[in-house]
Amino acid sequence: MRALSDLHTHSSFSFDAEYAPIRMVEGAVKRGLREFCLTDHLDFDRPMTEWNIPDFTAREGQLSVLDGAFPGIRIGRGAEVSMAGRDCARRAEELLSGLELDFVIGSVHTIRGANVWEDAFYEGWSRRDIYRIYLEQIIRSLECFPTLDVLGHYDFVAHYAPYADRSFFYEDAPDLFDEIFRWLLVHGKTLEINSSSWEGDSPWGLDILCRFREMGGHFVTLGSDAHNPGRVGARLEEAAALAEAAGLAVVTYHGHRPQPLQP
Ligand SMILES: [Zn+2]
Ligand SMILES: [Zn+2]
Repeated sequence: MRALSDLHTHSSFSFDAEYAPIRMVEGAVKRGLREFCLTDHLDFDRPMTEWNIPDFTAREGQLSVLDGAFPGIRIGRGAEVSMAGRDCARRAEELLSGLELDFVIGSVHTIRGANVWEDAFYEGWSRRDIYRIYLEQIIRSLECFPTLDVLGHYDFVAHYAPYADRSFFYEDAPDLFDEIFRWLLVHGKTLEINSSSWEGDSPWGLDILCRFREMGGHFVTLGSDAHNPGRVGARLEEAAALAEAAGLAVVTYHGHRPQPLQP
């Protein structure tokens, strides 16, 4: 069995999750993971009254007593930042500059105030157009938020799309994928394979990962996007197999530095 890492999970320090960090770590231990990282939501992409800002000090208080309590697994500290323009990025960077984290995911969840996870977002658009609109927003967002270590769920739009076949293909937007990959590679960043996007469907993305490799990508991170202990590590064997098939190494991050996963 290959060593596995889950670098995208949420605890009760996220607005949309309710399980304490220890419960999530227990889920990771049960799954036999080598590396685990909590990446609670940090969202400034909404009106000020709705900002989601985790209490990182309180979270650290809970995590520090778990270090070493579970032999064989490393517990990382991270955040998932919603990317949506310069103001949002500036606030996130200010807050992150005072923290010692291992890993920061930059993700697009909203476009001009519209929630990508809601059905209304897809109304009036063709599948191709809406997938492209999402990738175009990623491109605009990356320029504003160079602090990220990895681009989270590039296929978030496919995850919530209301189509019988939601699969995302490189041919849906080759120009936009290339632009995103160029930016990531020039800036020393990488891509995440997010297993939650597939829900119960077959995994997609091999053609996309192969193109990333062809353009010079060497590694990726894996994330389940678990919001409960039972989903920690879910479908990451399949995600790891995709990475391997594309010729990409799976890495973890310590102090914002990619590290090979020890076998
Ligand atoms: Zn997300
Ligand atoms: Zn997430």
